[in-house]
Amino acid sequence: MKTKEQLKREINALRQNICWVHGDAILKGIAEPSYGIPSGYDSEAQKQFPFHGLFVDLGCLAVPSDQTKGQVINVCPTCKKEALIFLEAAENE
Ligand SMILES: [Zn+2]
Repeated sequence: MKTKEQLKREINALRQNICWVHGDAILKGIAEPSYGIPSGYDSEAQKQFPFHGLFVDLGCLAVPSDQTKGQVINVCPTCKKEALIFLEAAENE
């Protein structure tokens, strides 16, 4: 569960169109459906890197990659970079 303070911070950041984790400007991007997500790590990545843009999170459901093709999403460059490192490390465990 998110605290009220967290939510307030996130909403403020969204109003300014910045990532609340890194303070980077959020860009519009296209989901890259080719990337495979190690199961169990997607929600963790989502939590730590909310604007990674690597796959689309529809609530509690991880959508099969071929269904997210061409979907416009919000991307923070730092989230994306760090999420890739995170997922790669997860795969090598
Ligand atoms: Zn970010």
